[in-house]
Amino acid sequence: MGRVIGGIGCSHSPALAGIHDSGKRHLPPWQSIFAGFDAAKEWLSAARPDLLIVCYNDHLNHFFFDSYPTFALGVADSFPLADEGRPTRAFAPLPGRADLGWQIARSLVAQEFDITICQEMPLDHGVLSPLPLLTGSPWPVPILPLAVNVVQHPLPTARRCLRLGQAIRQAVAELDDAIRVVVIGTGGLSHQLHGPDFGQVNPAWDLEFLDRLGPDPDGLAALDHGAFMRRGGAEAVEMIIWLIMRGALATQIREIHRTYATPALTGLAVCVLQNS
Ligand code: FE
Repeated sequence: MGRVIGGIGCSHSPALAGIHDSGKRHLPPWQSIFAGFDAAKEWLSAARPDLLIVCYNDHLNHFFFDSYPTFALGVADSFPLADEGRPTRAFAPLPGRADLGWQIARSLVAQEFDITICQEMPLDHGVLSPLPLLTGSPWPVPILPLAVNVVQHPLPTARRCLRLGQAIRQAVAELDDAIRVVVIGTGGLSHQLHGPDFGQVNPAWDLEFLDRLGPDPDGLAALDHGAFMRRGGAEAVEMIIWLIMRGALATQIREIHRTYATPALTGLAVCVLQNS
């Protein structure tokens, strides 16, 4: 019997990768968010997870508009880095656990979540921007990637994401072995990268979302996509991915850490939630 021990919500802005790789993380506008990732990394290391379920979205680097799955689970022992049209970062392929992936996939389908199962799934910055900040590399923990469609309408509802998280919690509980799982949800927070509102962020909405994530996930799940987009910008609809992470946790949770910053173009956050 496995157990979800906690969750991490974080942004996956490509800027995090760029600043990290160029060694500029200690510059003033970026210092605080990287310190936040350091705190989350410390918690994660102490939590000693056996598996990280990483919920993210692919940015048309693996899935394309001709066939974009609503939810896609990567079930493999290794995941290559996606070609994002720029030099590939200097990381090894990410380790997976196909055996655990199949067990979780079977449980999700039995719970009537008919996910797409991918035995080959290159991963883009939705995973690769934050993961090195949370675990370091070489990769210490295998991952189970779950890609969510927040790109091509119709998108899954926020409520569906919360319920998928609850199904993941059940699937982990049904695992054969005593596996310790941390669920990570990446995306957002507020940002819009096109049109007249390019570059706008909305810290008030971002902080409200962070405040409500623990005590009021049902209230957040009741919001439609337009509500997320009007408040946080079109691409901020990625925030529904965090609700999968939240749904995988217990009703009562404790916020262990939170950092929020707006260094450029995007509201950036990292928070750690632990079952109480
Ligand atoms: Fe994104």
